[in-house]
Amino acid sequence: MKRYSMYCNGEWIGEGLATIEVNNPATNEMIATVPLGGKEEASLAVDAANEAFTEWSALSAYERSDYLRKWFNLIKENEMDIARSMTLEQGKPLKEALGEVQYANSFIDWYAEEGKRIYGETIPAVQRNKRLFVHKQPVGVIAAITPWNFPAAMITRKIAPALAAGCTAVIKPAEQTPITALKLAELAEKAGFPKGVINVITGDAKAIGEAWLKDERVRKLTFTGSTEVGKLLMRGSAETVKKVSLELGGHAPVIITKNADLDKAVDGVIAAKFRNAGQTCVCSNRIYVHEGLTEAFTKAFTEKVKDLLVGNGLEDGVIIGPLIDQDAIAKVSKHVHDALEKGATIESGGKRIEGLFYEPTVLSNVTDDMLCMNEETFGPVAPITTFTDEVEVISRANNSPYGLAAYVFTENISEAVRIVEGLEYGIVGLNDGLPSAAQVPFGGFKQSGLGREGGHYGIEEFLEVKYVSMGL
Ligand code: ADP
Repeated sequence: MKRYSMYCNGEWIGEGLATIEVNNPATNEMIATVPLGGKEEASLAVDAANEAFTEWSALSAYERSDYLRKWFNLIKENEMDIARSMTLEQGKPLKEALGEVQYANSFIDWYAEEGKRIYGETIPAVQRNKRLFVHKQPVGVIAAITPWNFPAAMITRKIAPALAAGCTAVIKPAEQTPITALKLAELAEKAGFPKGVINVITGDAKAIGEAWLKDERVRKLTFTGSTEVGKLLMRGSAETVKKVSLELGGHAPVIITKNADLDKAVDGVIAAKFRNAGQTCVCSNRIYVHEGLTEAFTKAFTEKVKDLLVGNGLEDGVIIGPLIDQDAIAKVSKHVHDALEKGATIESGGKRIEGLFYEPTVLSNVTDDMLCMNEETFGPVAPITTFTDEVEVISRANNSPYGLAAYVFTENISEAVRIVEGLEYGIVGLNDGLPSAAQVPFGGFKQSGLGREGGHYGIEEFLEVKYVSMGL
């Protein structure tokens, strides 16, 4: 069993501190420990990032790109090792973990180039003797707080654009999945990033979070996690008026109209629903099927769900790994019981399996008053309900405080345009269950968050706009 250290100012620190256990959710075995960092280590990391900012931000975008490119290559060479660590601490099947490492690395690849395209502007002045310019500059030290469901991608999606823009970073990974983050830091060290540019602090979330919120030198907070913690961090950021980007909860609706291609809809919903055992913020949570297609869809979908193998993610053929912890199991069980009590029918699954596993579950005859139709289940449960009318289903889909991802399946172009435009969601998968990519903006409407990650939008979040008025 390995005892990990934290990465701060180019050094591995925290040996003397108390530790946090990292457990394998598939076996409940302790696999490693990491230091229980707190306020002091959090501040040391900001000291380091602040010190490093002057030099790092002064490099040319091309020089910073070289570092990112080296990091990208090292991650690529070590992708299987990182994927294995991820499966061990997070539970997702190895193939999926490898997919995440590659997806995570695609942000480094993309932003290594995008940093070279931070363009300014010249604006015509009213007076002949003036020249007006707009420059963009890095915001400064940024703090990233990340969740356990994507232990690599949620870090690189924030850090790659931040570093490319010229910011330096302090990072706190989720307590459940710090090893992936520390492995990325090891490779960043090997890539030769100057000390203090990247710092990873593990430990007491509240203490670390508070230290960074209070610190004026931290100019930007970027967070992915629950809406509850996101609100708390947004409130805390007010004190020092930090910029904030928040990727919070979702409750994705899927609309399958009578003009849908059944095979595309079934495959699309399986992909959107069961990735990471249903533990993603863009997982489909509510499946609205046109009444004319409900029976056929439910039958075809259930047949495929029955083939999804549950087990330890290191075993061949496993598609559904364990859930992250007992609370996750309890929430899924609660949602299924509530649905059954209110009249839903189980088409498949519906039970927990010893350990932290839950059968992939299909529920039909679901109604809008059930918990699973209103709260994020974050587990492998697919609730199917019916609709008759387009306007009605758009309104039901929008009836949520969340607005992250939505999915639409139809082959009719006019219907597609009407529904896509009517949805109050930041991401719409039209006949596509997996819309995420490095080059596109990911983020939500309403209480699903603020700002966007990915694409050219994602780097703007780490830039200040400076307007210069020059008299001749
Ligand atoms: P989840 O419910 O998915 O675990 P959380 O929002 O609790 O989501 O966690 C996301 C990240 O936020 C994790 O890194 C966690 O440690 C961190 N976190 C939780 N509470 C706080 C807090 N009070 N201050 C700062 N970070 C926090």
